[in-house]
Amino acid sequence: MQIHDTISGVRTALKAAGRVVFVPTMGNLHEGHIALMRQARQHGDCVVASIFVNRLQFRPGEDFEKYPRTMLADCDKLREAGVDHLFAPDETELYPAPQRYVVEPPAEHANILEGEFRPGHFRGVATVVMKLFGIVSPQAALFGKKDFQQFMVLSSMVREFGLPIDVIPGPTVRAADGLALSSRNGFLSAAERAEAPRLYRVLAKVIEQVRAGATDFARLEHEAMDELRAHHWAPDYIALRKQIDLQSPSAHDTGLVVLAAARLGSTRLIDNLEV
Ligand code: AMP
Repeated sequence: MQIHDTISGVRTALKAAGRVVFVPTMGNLHEGHIALMRQARQHGDCVVASIFVNRLQFRPGEDFEKYPRTMLADCDKLREAGVDHLFAPDETELYPAPQRYVVEPPAEHANILEGEFRPGHFRGVATVVMKLFGIVSPQAALFGKKDFQQFMVLSSMVREFGLPIDVIPGPTVRAADGLALSSRNGFLSAAERAEAPRLYRVLAKVIEQVRAGATDFARLEHEAMDELRAHHWAPDYIALRKQIDLQSPSAHDTGLVVLAAARLGSTRLIDNLEV
C-alpha cells in the first residue's frame, strides 16, 4: 500500500491507475470500514482509502479534538484488506487557508434529522467529499448506510452536479449483539457498552410493528423514545421516514427507514434500519 500525505503525491500516483474506487473515512478503522474496502475491490482496479478528521463537519463543543486518531493500526488494517493507496493529509494540506467555497446541501436534506441537531454538519461533509473527489478523481465511491442521511446527501450531490462517479452503498456492519460498529463506541464505559445494543433493539421493534401493518408512525416513534428514556438514554430523534428522500411518510407509503440518534452518557450514537 502506498501512503500519500500530499495532494500532488496522490494525484501523480493515481494517474495511470485504471478504475479508481474511493472509500473516504475519518480513521479509527473497524470492521465496518474494512467491509467497505473489501466491497470496493469488486468495483474497480485500484482501491483508494482516505483518512482525514474533517474539522468542518464538527461544531464547537462536539468531539473533533477527542476523535480517536490511530494511524498506525489503521494502516495495518488497510494493508491487510488489500487497499492500494491511502491518502492521509494533515489539515494544512487540505485546508491551507480557510475554506471559503463550500457545498451547501438543500435544507430539506441537510436541516432535518442529523442536520437539525448538528447544524452545518452536512455542509462540512459535502464540502470535504467534493474536495476529496477533486483530488482522487474516482470512478466510484463507497459510503456506509450506517450514516443513511449522509449517503442520501452525497448521492444527491453527485447526481445534481453530474459528477462521473458511481456512488455505492455498503450495508451496516454490526457487533454480534446488534450494536452498529462506530468509532464512537470506544467512548462507552463497560456498563454503557452493555446497554448500547438497546438502540438497535428498539429500532428493530419499530420495524417489526410497521411490517405487521402499524401506520400510527408518531406513536411508534414516541414509544421507542420513551423506552430509551426509561433506560437513561437522551434521544435526539427516532423518526420513520421514506428511504428515497427522508421526508415523512403517509400511512400507505412503502420503502421506509427508521432513523435514530441518542446519547448514552456523553456518547452520541446513531443507527437506522430499513423496513
Ligand atoms: P467515518 O470514518 O465514521 O466517517 O466512516 C467512514 C465510512 O464508513 C462512511 O461511509 C460510514 O458510513 C462507513 N461506516 C461507518 N461505520 C460503519 C458500519 N458500522 N457499517 C458500515 N459502514 C460504516
